[in-house]
Amino acid sequence: MEIEKIDCLIIGSGPAGYTAAIYASRAGLNPVMYQGIQPGGQLTITTEVDNYPGYPDGITGPEMMQNFEAQAKRFGTDVRYGMVTSVDFTGFPHKVVVDGQKEIEAKTVIVSTGASAKWLGLESEQRLNGKGVSACAVCDGFFFRNQDVVIVGAGDTAAEEASYLAKLCRKVYLLVRRDEMRASKIMQKRVETLPNIEILWNTETVEVLGEEAVEGVKVRNNVSGEETVLEATGFFVAIGHKPNTDIFSGYLDMDATGYIQTVKGTSLTNVKGVFACGDAQDNIYRQAVTAAGSGCMAALDAERFLAALEVEHEIIQTA
Ligand SMILES: Cc1cc2nc3c(=O)[nH]c(=O)nc-3n(C[C@H](O)[C@H](O)[C@H](O)COP(=O)(O)OP(=O)(O)OC[C@H]3O[C@@H](n4cnc5c(N)ncnc54)[C@H](O)[C@@H]3O)c2cc1C
Repeated sequence: MEIEKIDCLIIGSGPAGYTAAIYASRAGLNPVMYQGIQPGGQLTITTEVDNYPGYPDGITGPEMMQNFEAQAKRFGTDVRYGMVTSVDFTGFPHKVVVDGQKEIEAKTVIVSTGASAKWLGLESEQRLNGKGVSACAVCDGFFFRNQDVVIVGAGDTAAEEASYLAKLCRKVYLLVRRDEMRASKIMQKRVETLPNIEILWNTETVEVLGEEAVEGVKVRNNVSGEETVLEATGFFVAIGHKPNTDIFSGYLDMDATGYIQTVKGTSLTNVKGVFACGDAQDNIYRQAVTAAGSGCMAALDAERFLAALEVEHEIIQTA
């Protein structure tokens, strides 16, 4: 197998990866980036991004990510198509295999592989994705001001997102599959006391209605079997996210869901020279700007790690 030796490898091409790339290339680390199956990351599947600073009139997700890529390339980042298929972080340098056929030895690895929202799996949900269907209330709630929306989920995230939407929307229907929520007591209480949230217990989504935009949601009570239509222009799915971190399991410390654990306030993982940023290590904020901020941290941490390595090397040589 062909082996390439580099200083800095960036895995993933979302806001975190590209920001790391901009900083790492400007610091002279000659980073190589593998984009994975979704070049540009999650924002390439959305339309308007209205909350990223610096774009007063908003920008579409794909256009914004093209700008990120152009900026990273301007400073010399080697951006490549390819998927990291396995890693070996037991020794040093770190070994990474791309597309099962090329091996890279990297002194530093920046993991920015993101996370994917979980969906219900309905055809209508996918068809209307970005046209009223969303998995992020903080990102898209603003577009539904003073309108009626439906949100699905029963955990803390669903409770939090329902409360967030309640501040913007006229009415929020919260669909809970069982007769109780998984959310913490305090979050449940908050949801139950907000006057414009109506919780529909034992309720499942049958179909999101509408051709070009969400016009309503057909729901079924799974106890009585009764089906009803809720009039709504927004449909939010808040049933969890899955971080794209399976290939690192056994090497990097993760929580039960698979989010990489970093040392508080840094991008350091439990493996020296491996740094994590963006949604792959963030189960709380999950925003483009926070991902970008943590990408900057990862590049600075990698730069410091390489500088310390160089000093160590010089001391050994002069001893
Ligand atoms: C529909 C939608 C709308 C959103 N709207 C907004 C918004 O308006 N404002 C906002 O701030 N946030 C928004 N978000 C959230 C935002 O997109 C994420 O917080 C952000 O993209 C996270 O960036 P990231 O770099 O961590 O990861 P991601 O953007 O998820 O990128 C991950 C990258 O890793 C790559 N990858 C994964 N596995 C591998 C592998 N094995 N090898 C190589 N590469 C790999 C992928 O191909 C991808 O390029 C939205 C999200 C969605 C889904």
